Amino acid sequence: MYTPIIWDICVPPRVHIFLWLLSNNKTLTRTNLAKRRHVDDTTCLFCSEQETVHHLFFECCVPKVLWTYISEIFHVALGTDYESIARWWISNKTYKVMNCFSAALMWCLWKFRNEMCFQGKIWRGEKLLLSRLYNMLKSWRILFVDGDLDTLNQALSKLQHMLQQPPRLLGQSQEYSIMWTSSEETSSSTGALPGRTPSTSARLMVAEAPADFPTSSTDLFPSLDAMTSHVSSSFGSGFWAL
Ligand SMILES: [Zn+2]
Repeated sequence: MYTPIIWDICVPPRVHIFLWLLSNNKTLTRTNLAKRRHVDDTTCLFCSEQETVHHLFFECCVPKVLWTYISEIFHVALGTDYESIARWWISNKTYKVMNCFSAALMWCLWKFRNEMCFQGKIWRGEKLLLSRLYNMLKSWRILFVDGDLDTLNQALSKLQHMLQQPPRLLGQSQEYSIMWTSSEETSSSTGALPGRTPSTSARLMVAEAPADFPTSSTDLFPSLDAMTSHVSSSFGSGFWAL
């Protein structure tokens, strides 16, 4: 029911197409890809649940937290499912900037998920996605004028302020990623297409760190050389080229 109004959302054309695919459950998540051909692994790159459209963009722990940022910026309870997000699209004149934010968030998530899946990018916390969201929305400012542009700038200022606050998800640091990612997992099949799956580094964020888990790189590794050696053995020399 929300498909026709997608085209009114103030985003670049490629994002309109993305939203249309998402709204029709045609985004090529692993479970959707599995409807077309065999896929070894249909689990989410952020956790161990099945990677459906609903899960990847709404239900997973990562988007769930990211949606809370948008809700706080605009002082509305956006919700964390497609229906609750898309219902705001109907009042796009009133919520033009917020709808642009929510579309940009989903687009950011999808782009980063693809980088994890196909380029071996490693999850290091929500701040990376939020800063990407910030830069993306800044580049979309040319789509807005007058009062809408003011609203967008105010929302961007709030987002910028949030970027300076502590992260809300566990497992933000590189140390966690290095420590808990095994070479066995990184060399396993992605399920979707050939490539490395650094999913363990992301999946750790849903796990509780042990009470005695070291909190700094110097606790984890006695020297930079030791850390480099550990990372190289886990990821291979190609890690440093990322
Ligand atoms: Zn997930």
